[in-house]
This record gives sequence, structure tokens and C-alpha cells, in this order.
Amino acid sequence: MFGLCEEAIDVLSSRRADFGDIRIVRTRAQSLGVRNGETGSVDDSETLGFGVRVLLGGAWGFASSGLVTRAEVRRVSLLALEIARASAMLMDRKVRLAPEPAYRDFWQTPFIKDPFAVPVEEKFRTLFEADRLMRRDRRIKSALSSMRFVREHQWHATTEGSRIEQVLLSSGADCRATAVDGAQVQERGYPCSHGGQTLAMGYELIDLLDLPGHAEKAASEAVALLKAPDCPSGELDLITYGNQMALQIHESVGHASELDRVLGYEESYAGSSFATTEKLGSFRYGSPMVNLVADATLPGGLATAGYDDDAVKAQRWHIVKDGVLSGYMTNREFAPRVGLRRSQGSCRADGPANIPITRICNLSLMPGSAGSMEDLVRSTKRGIIMENNKSWSIDQRRLNFQFGCEIGWLVENGKIKKMVRNPTYQGITPAFWGSCDAICGPDEWRLWGVANCGKGQPPQTAAMCHGSSPARFKRVKVGVKAG
Ligand SMILES: [Zn+2]
Repeated sequence: MFGLCEEAIDVLSSRRADFGDIRIVRTRAQSLGVRNGETGSVDDSETLGFGVRVLLGGAWGFASSGLVTRAEVRRVSLLALEIARASAMLMDRKVRLAPEPAYRDFWQTPFIKDPFAVPVEEKFRTLFEADRLMRRDRRIKSALSSMRFVREHQWHATTEGSRIEQVLLSSGADCRATAVDGAQVQERGYPCSHGGQTLAMGYELIDLLDLPGHAEKAASEAVALLKAPDCPSGELDLITYGNQMALQIHESVGHASELDRVLGYEESYAGSSFATTEKLGSFRYGSPMVNLVADATLPGGLATAGYDDDAVKAQRWHIVKDGVLSGYMTNREFAPRVGLRRSQGSCRADGPANIPITRICNLSLMPGSAGSMEDLVRSTKRGIIMENNKSWSIDQRRLNFQFGCEIGWLVENGKIKKMVRNPTYQGITPAFWGSCDAICGPDEWRLWGVANCGKGQPPQTAAMCHGSSPARFKRVKVGVKAG
């Protein structure tokens, strides 16, 4: 494939492009589902394509194709140059890229068991078993179990001399039970909501998740929620658990720290951010125990790779350090605007047909010193535990948010008293993170995948992970009715 890449690099270099690159991407994607005892879906597809990006006279051009031949690479490269020339006429400021060394490297997601080598029959056996166990209770009206696997093989060449080959692999699975009683509908998903758990691992993740081993508990909790009392209203201490903290990090820190959004480039569609550049290094984002670290080297992370789509080597850096805003998600174009000599490397594209844009990297809350979940509950006088995100809304500047979770438990005098249903909470980003007074230790730290983050025009999907231990936030407004 690098032979074909050279064709593009020759065309772009001979036309004196400031910068140019080609990404050839082959993607294999498989997804399987079982719904209420029947095979719901099987999808297995392979796609191949390439995208050529060029910077000419300080303006971008991009073109792509699904036909991977030498003649087509040449045609598309010339088209990208033509588009750059046209964009140059409308440009108000010349694009300059932060420098980056050239790399010749191969990188691949470490895995134990190739998911595409596991027979489909074996996968369905696991899904049908989880499905059967969830539907043992007749109040479960809908059961859904699914798995998905993606392997993306990329060849990336730049006019600066980088030749980077990467094979990125991810696996995911979940099961979900819906209980119905009259007008009351309650859902429980294992291990989490929004399409389940996805990590950059092989089939060993599916073995570890053990859907059949957790299906009955998910179903029985969905049934128990039907009769559980509603979440109380008022100001209570909140303990976030499961993937709820992943969503909290994603929405109120991840998107807020995308530098393109901060600089106003996403304002018309995805929104802007309150975390503006004059706040960098001084703004109190959270309490001093809040450390949020972006990490493209994190094992299992969906944004983990050797290099991003700007050919920048993977890095690890603070977004919030000891409670203070300390960094942004950047690409090579915008990094210099906050005084960085080099991009942090969070520029990615959704497949070969899209231009790379600034993306949330893996972003995690570092563990604290509050010990185990039991220790945290024991030190809570009156509070509520909320697990697994059900709904979210946050304003365009990422300040005012409201979350709903699948399940809650009321804590009184250090003990879990009872299950509550439809738990919700709301807050304002810096005040909420500022109220964080306890974070459990490293033994409770878990990584959660977000496989469907949407951004850009035309819309692109990206995946990343957020890790966290359970954490406690003081006097949070809970039990607000969904609007
Ligand atoms: Zn997102």
C-alpha cells in the first residue's frame, strides 16, 4: 500500500504543497445481535478507501475515493490540490502546522484473541445464553444482547517523510433487559449503557465481560426498579458509579477542552466552550484532588494508537491538574495558538473519506485516596449512588448539565438503604468538579468506552475511553425531573 501512497506524495510534493498526506484505510467491521430469543442482526463488512489532504498556500484541500488504484490516487491528489487552490481564495488566515518529526513505524493494538477468528456460532451461543437468562422473568418484555468488532488497518504517508502503518482493533458487547409493568418501564444494561462496553482489545474482552454470568442480575434489577421509590429531590452528596463518570468526563471536560471548539471553529454546529484560552493555567476547574489526564498511550483505550491522523506521536498530558485547567485536545493547526510548540496529538478522522479534526483523546480522572467503594459509602452521611448513564443534556458552552442514570441507591449514615428509580442530577461544570471531595483508589478504577462520539460537518463518529474510580460530589441537586 505504501507504493500507492508514494504516487500521492509525488504529486503533492511536485506541486510544492506546504504539507500533504494520504491515508489508505481498510476496515473490517462485524456486529451481531440477539433480541428476544431471535437472531436480530449479523453484519460483516470490509471497506477500503483513501483520503488525500493537502495544504497549499496556507489553505486546506481534501478529497477521497473508494477505488484504490494508482490512477485514482493521482486523480484524487490533483483534485485535493484544486480544492486547496479554491479555498485559498476564501481564506482569512494562513494555516501553519506545528512541526513534528517524521516517523517510519508499525503499531498495532495488543490483543490475545483475534475476534475475527472466533466462529460466529460461538459468539451467538454466548448471546443466546445471555438472552435466555434475562427472559427467565416474564416481566422482562425486551431483551437485547450484542457484540461488535472493528479492525482498522491504516497506511499513512506524509510529504514530511512519515510512513506509518497501524492496525487498530476494538471489541465490544452488552446485554440489556427492559421490564414493563403498566405505564412503568425500566431498563438495566450490563456492563453499561449506550451500546455497552467497547475497548481496544481482542475477544478476551468478551470472555472477561461474561454476559451470561451477569444477565440475570441485570434483569432482576430492571424488575426491582419497577417497584422502587422515585429518587428523592434536594441537595445530596452524589457518588457516581459505572459509566456515569465516563459520560460526566466526556461531556463536561472532554468536549469543553477541544481546542477547535474553544477557538470558535465548531460554534455553528457542535457548540463552543467556556474553557477559553485566557483561563489556561489559572482557571479552577475542580477541587485540588481533581486530575484529568488525556492519554493516547493508555492500554485498552479506544483513542490509543502509535500516532494520530496528523502523524503526531501518541502522548499523555494533563487537561486538569490539581484542579486547574492545564491543557487542551489539539491538532497541529491549532496547537500553536495556545503557545504549544508541538500538537498534543488528538486529531483523528472517521475513516478515509473524512478530513481529520480535533477529537477527545482517552481522558480519565486519576484515582484518589478514598479507598474502596465500601469505604466511600461508609464515610457518606446522606447521599445517593448513581450508576450507568441513561440520558444527558449540556448547553453549547458545556456549563449547565443534567444527567439521568439507570439506577440509584440511597445512602444513609454510611449504609446503602434502598434502591431508587429514575435518578437524575444537575450542575454547573466548574462548581460540580469543585465539589468533588473524595475519589476512590486505583483498585476501583475502571475504563469505559465511548464508541459513538459525534462531531463535525459533515458528521463524523469517533471513539475514546474514559477511566475513573467512583467519586463523591458534595451537595449536588438531585431528583430534578427530566425536562
Ligand atoms: Zn462526544
